[in-house]
Amino acid sequence: QRLIIAVDGPSGSGKSSVCRAVAGQLGAAYLDTGAMYRAATWYCLAQGVDLDDEQAVAVAVEELPLKISTDPEHQVVMVGSTDVTGAIRETRISERVSEIATNRPARALLISAQRRLIDESGYIVAEGRDITTVVAPDAQVRVLLTASAEARLRRRGLQLGGTETAEALKRQVIDRDTRDSTASNFTEAADGVAVLDSSDLTFQETVDTLIQRVHQ
Ligand code: C5P
Repeated sequence: QRLIIAVDGPSGSGKSSVCRAVAGQLGAAYLDTGAMYRAATWYCLAQGVDLDDEQAVAVAVEELPLKISTDPEHQVVMVGSTDVTGAIRETRISERVSEIATNRPARALLISAQRRLIDESGYIVAEGRDITTVVAPDAQVRVLLTASAEARLRRRGLQLGGTETAEALKRQVIDRDTRDSTASNFTEAADGVAVLDSSDLTFQETVDTLIQRVHQ
């Protein structure tokens, strides 16, 4: 059976945890495409590549020795023999990932890799910013997972364990959305994409709603 579930949404919409839980409950694979942009960023920085140099970034991403697991219960991201699962979540990566995401050749390479992973799996929940529109527009289930800015900031605070001030968090989330909006825009869902607003839903309610959509 081939079933592709494509989910897009802004940062802090809870999309990664929701999608991982949905995949786990369905027994499907899971692909976090954001982790691929993060790993590419980690690699470019590790190689000392100037992120303003479009060509140099493209070359680095072309040779990026990336391995990403699609097991929702066991997420591991490897670059060569280095486990970067934790490192790609660091602020220094979050702050620069948009520079890779807006690099056209790098984007094209990562999109091809994503299509390959989706194709190999066949039954998968794939999430990111352009999955419903660009990577897998022919997915059987296409959902835009949104949440109000307030709800997203609240969740971010919980996720980071309250170690950063509300103001710094707010700046981080909003800044990244602003940078990302050059590549993608979430004010409206594309044709045929269902909007799931999780602002007033609990985590489990959001998971259940998405699973209901899959079974519809
Ligand atoms: O989902 P996450 O916040 O980890 O994504 C990190 C960054 O990767 C995003 O801020 C965005 O710049 C980029 N991204 C993208 N397209 C995707 C997934 C992520 O441009 N499909």
